[in-house]
Amino acid sequence: MARYNQERFMILGEHFYQPPRKGAHERVKSIQTDPYGVDWNRVIAGESYVPQIQAGLLELSSFDFFATMRKEMENISPESLPDLESALKERGVGDPYLHVLLPDLSYGDKQILIGAGAKLFAEQAGQLPQWFWAPETALDMETLEVLSEFGYIGVICAPEQIDVPNKEIDDRPVKIPLPNGKQFLLLAFDRPVSSALAHHKKENANQFADEVIFPRLDNLPATLPMIAFTDGETFGHHFKFGDMFLRYLMETALPEAGVAMLGINEAMSVWGEGDFLEGNLRERTAWSCPHGDLIRWHGACPCDAGFNGSWKANFSSAVSQLNEVMTRIISMEVDDYNSKLIDDFEHIFMYQGGSSDPETSLLAAKASAMAAMISCGTFFDSPGTSGRINMLFVRQALEHLRDAGLTVEANEMLQTVKNELHNAINPHTGEYLDEMFADILQLPEISTSVIDE
Ligand SMILES: [Zn+2]
Repeated sequence: MARYNQERFMILGEHFYQPPRKGAHERVKSIQTDPYGVDWNRVIAGESYVPQIQAGLLELSSFDFFATMRKEMENISPESLPDLESALKERGVGDPYLHVLLPDLSYGDKQILIGAGAKLFAEQAGQLPQWFWAPETALDMETLEVLSEFGYIGVICAPEQIDVPNKEIDDRPVKIPLPNGKQFLLLAFDRPVSSALAHHKKENANQFADEVIFPRLDNLPATLPMIAFTDGETFGHHFKFGDMFLRYLMETALPEAGVAMLGINEAMSVWGEGDFLEGNLRERTAWSCPHGDLIRWHGACPCDAGFNGSWKANFSSAVSQLNEVMTRIISMEVDDYNSKLIDDFEHIFMYQGGSSDPETSLLAAKASAMAAMISCGTFFDSPGTSGRINMLFVRQALEHLRDAGLTVEANEMLQTVKNELHNAINPHTGEYLDEMFADILQLPEISTSVIDE
């Protein structure tokens, strides 16, 4: 006999993201970002993403699948792409084109990444996304305004990012007023269930449902679906056979108890009027650091497990300065660069460089400067874990700038980045960061002798 007489729902969301780990410009293509030369995107897709798509798990879970990773799937597993794109329509959640902490960007840069992500989603899914997953769920009011501008109705976030005094807010949609007069929804995932989904053993799905999910679901009004989100790589990569656990959980353990899987894009039709709360956003918060002001990515934070994270202040400042200077340059040189990037971000970002028109090179330089700001570099306690990825895109930005003929500016920007990194020390090795990344942070002479064929 089912545990629930009245039909109950669960929205199980997965966040599929790996950073772009290779450059597109022909002068940076050979740069390795992994210290051991491992192609992690291929490894993780093979262990986790491809098996989940092929087993039809994205027909049951809700998910965001980052555009750069979707692009890589064309090479890694072209046969699973059609299934991914049809699932995107039913259960897909939107995201920005690059995994940058959005509150760190200007209004215009937020428009570029959010707009480019939404446009590509619509091209592949045939419709605009309704819900948004922000990188690290890092949010501020300006980000919500831009999202509303691009047609989103709400964002998914951690309950501790929302201010609703004296109310249990896990699993509930919260209406907040935007400065532009519109309303926007913050949707809090269930903290205990999401954390357990990420960290508990993935052996017995029935036991997991009994011990973790049902006790929480029992306390919710019947019209509220249980909502849990975690990283997609959890299943198969972090936990071998985790994909089979997830499949049994969604196909058998929950339905047998009377809990149906619900796609997040159907949630609006299930909630009752009384399920919505009113509240406010706690600005500059994220799901992966409880210490406020997005400090984990900008300086020393208790998240760094005893290692001195002060290098992050210089690292994040170096890439932000690069991006700001790039904005100043492109806004003088390219009319309406913002819309041009939104319309064609993927092609521009994948541009191999060369001697074509300077405008394309400048647009590619700007896209690369934004990629240099992806949050991965300062997420970990060591700049060695992912820092080379950010530095790769610093270098790519400067190479495109040189292609556009702005050699002096490129050299000045490189010097600024190196000076900033010279003030930072890797807490694991004692190395200065400019020396640590010296093989990437250089602009060798470009050969001027053109070889005639
Ligand atoms: Zn923290």
